[in-house]
Amino acid sequence: MSAKYPFAKSLVFDEPTIQRRIVELSGDIHRHYSGLVTETSPLVLVVVLNGAFMFAADLARALADRKLPVRMDFICVSSYQGGTHTTGEVRMLLDLRRGIQGQHVLMIEDIVDSAHTLDFLLKLFMTRSPASLKMASLLDKKAARRIPLRVDFVCFDCPPEFVIGYGLDFAERFRELRDIVVLKPEYYMKAPAAKL
Ligand code: 5GP
Repeated sequence: MSAKYPFAKSLVFDEPTIQRRIVELSGDIHRHYSGLVTETSPLVLVVVLNGAFMFAADLARALADRKLPVRMDFICVSSYQGGTHTTGEVRMLLDLRRGIQGQHVLMIEDIVDSAHTLDFLLKLFMTRSPASLKMASLLDKKAARRIPLRVDFVCFDCPPEFVIGYGLDFAERFRELRDIVVLKPEYYMKAPAAKL
């Protein structure tokens, strides 16, 4: 571990484990939506940027393998502003390109922690009258919840530590890793982001 990722305290989920679980989860999602969505009214996958980009890319391809009709749209919100603790204040940086009225919508998140972001998105999208609105998340950090919301489709429960990799960042670093690891606390305690 330390040779591959000198900045990591421990490995949480490795690439094969992540990929296997995504294929499994795509089966659950396929079962839920087949019959509800069609070629003319596909499932809208709303990718919550930036953290969910890698998970969404793999999940979308797993759904394509199962021939579930989807279209993808993107939203960008920010809640951490470069640190490791949520500020509780969610800011919208980029909105969807198209409307979602009357459509089945599945939001794709990287991690649900306090659930402030999920709460913000649910309230925002409900004002747009979708046919249904659900959430898939790569990770669920249940112990950190401040708002009691449940995630519909979860890949993994996450330990109550700050994790990076597979889309998840610290100060915009480490998103490119194939695995999910815990960042050594000394990195975010002292290091300016540029020196990591
Ligand atoms: P929430 O609003 O649920 O507290 O936090 C959601 C957002 O916080 C996630 O989309 C993610 O960007 C960030 N976040 C929460 N926990 C972690 C973590 O352990 N590692 C990283 N890199 N980001 C996290």
